[in-house]
Amino acid sequence: MNNNERVTTPLAPRRGEGGEAPNLIIIGAGPGGYRAAELAAKRGLRVTIFESGEVGGTCLNVGCIPTKTYVHSATFEEARQRMPQVVEQLRSGVEGILSHPNITLVKERAAFGETPLLVESVEKGIPIIIATGSETKWLPIEGIDSNPCVVDSTGLLSLDTLPKKLCIIGAGVIGMEFASVFHRFGSEVTVIEYLKECLPAIDSDIAKRLRKQMEKEGITFHMQCGVKEIADGHVVFENKKGQRESVDADVILMATGRKPRTAGLNLEALGIELYRNGSIPVDDSYQVVNSKSSKSKLYAIGDVNGRQMLAHAAEAQAKVVVEYIMDGSDSHLSPLASHLSPLASHLSVIPAAIFTTPEAACVGPSEDHLKAEGMSYECRKAFWRANGKALAMGETEGLLKLFSEPDGGRILGCHAYGAHSADIIQEVSVLMCMGATVEQLRQMVHIHPTLSEILLTAAES
Ligand code: FAD
Repeated sequence: MNNNERVTTPLAPRRGEGGEAPNLIIIGAGPGGYRAAELAAKRGLRVTIFESGEVGGTCLNVGCIPTKTYVHSATFEEARQRMPQVVEQLRSGVEGILSHPNITLVKERAAFGETPLLVESVEKGIPIIIATGSETKWLPIEGIDSNPCVVDSTGLLSLDTLPKKLCIIGAGVIGMEFASVFHRFGSEVTVIEYLKECLPAIDSDIAKRLRKQMEKEGITFHMQCGVKEIADGHVVFENKKGQRESVDADVILMATGRKPRTAGLNLEALGIELYRNGSIPVDDSYQVVNSKSSKSKLYAIGDVNGRQMLAHAAEAQAKVVVEYIMDGSDSHLSPLASHLSPLASHLSVIPAAIFTTPEAACVGPSEDHLKAEGMSYECRKAFWRANGKALAMGETEGLLKLFSEPDGGRILGCHAYGAHSADIIQEVSVLMCMGATVEQLRQMVHIHPTLSEILLTAAES
C-alpha cells in the first residue's frame, strides 16, 4: 500500500483500518498534529487526523522550511528553484509518518458540531487534540484591501520575480528575516515599525545592534512610525514627530504578526471562549479550559494556544500531551505531573532563533525582562570579534549576553546575535534544562577553535 492509498477522500469511511473507531482525534497535520499522531500511533492508539491543506502545516509548506531555503540560497532564482524540491521531499517524509497503520489521514476541514466523526467522538468522550496553527494578522490599514501589491509571508514566497523595492511593515521575526534575505538578493528594502526597537522578544541591546548592522548593510528602518495608508506604489506613514512621510514600493509585506487559527472550527458549539488575542485557553497540561460541554478531553497545542509560536514548541507540546493521554487519568492536573515527563518540566526552556544575517537567538528572559521583574542577576558578555574561529571565518559582528543568578549561580538565559548564534543558544538551553550554573559551565571544556568558546569566554568574564 502506498501513502496515497491511505489518504481518505471526503467520501471514504472515517474509521481506521478494519472499521474500528479511533481512540484519538487530531485536527491539523502541522508539526504539532503530525508529531502527536506519530507518537500516539507508535504507542498503539488508533488515530484519525484531519488536515484541510497540505500535511506539514505552516512550518513545512510556507514557514520555517521555505524561508530557510531562501536564507540558504545565493540568489532569488536559486531559492525559487530549490524551495519546491525541499518542501516536496520533506512533505513526502511526513506523508510516510502518517502512513502508519494506526493512522487515518482525512484530507478535509474539521469543525465541531458539523463533522460527523467529531460529533460522534465528542459524544463518546474520545480525546481530541486541536493543532490548527495560526494565520497572518492583517491590520486594518487604508488601501490594503484587494491591493495586489500587498502580500503576507506566503504571498512573498510565491512571487516569481524579485521586487525592486520591497517595503516591510513590521520588524518582528518574519519581517526581519525577509528584510535580510531580500536585501541580499538585491531588492531595495525598507522596514517600517511602530515600536522603538525590532524583535521585541530579544534583549533590546542585542536587537538594536543587529538592526544597526542591517542598516549599515543598506536596509532602511523607520522606527516608531505608524503606517496610515497604502496607495498606488507607496506606503504612507506617520513618523514619531507626527509628520507624514512615504516610501515607494512595488511589493509591500504585511509582517505584523500572526493570530491563532480557530475560524471555522466552531468552538462555540462546545462553549469554548477564546482569549482576546484569539488563542484557545489551555492549562499547564495543554487541556482546553472552559470546555465543559464536551465529554471528550480537549487539548490545544502549537500556535493555536498562542504560547510560543514556534515549530519546536508545537512538537514538544505534542510529546507531552500524548504522554498525558497515554497516562489516561486526571493525575496530570496535579503539580506532581512532572514525574510523567522530564520534557513537561523543560517546556519553560524554549530557545528561539531569527535567521537574519547575522542570525540572532535567545533562551530565557532578556535583560529588559529581568530588570522589569526586579530580579537579582548577573550579566556576562562576550564578543564575536574576540573569538579565533569568528575571526578566521570573517564573521566578527556579534555579542552574547549570558544571564545568571548572582555569584556564578544558575543560568537564567542567554541572548545573542552573530554567526551561528542559534547553535550556541542550543548549548545554553541544554545547560538550563540540566539546572547548570555558570560555575559549572566554566569547568566544561570547549573545542578550540569554535564559536562555542564565545559562551565559555562569557562565563569566564
Ligand atoms: P501549523 O503548522 O500551522 O499547522 C496547522 C495545520 O492545521 C495546517 O496544515 C492547517 O491546514 C490545518 N488546519 C487548520 N484548521 C483546520 C481544520 N479546521 N481542519 C483541518 N485542518 C485544519 N518556527 C520555527 O520554529 N522556526 C522558524 O524558522 C520559523 N519560521 C517561520 C517562518 C514563517 C514565514 C512563518 C509564517 C512561520 C515560521 N515559524 C517558524 C512558525 C512555525 O511555522 C509554526 O510555529 C508552526 O508551524 C506551528 O505548528 P502547528 O502544528 O501549531 O500549526
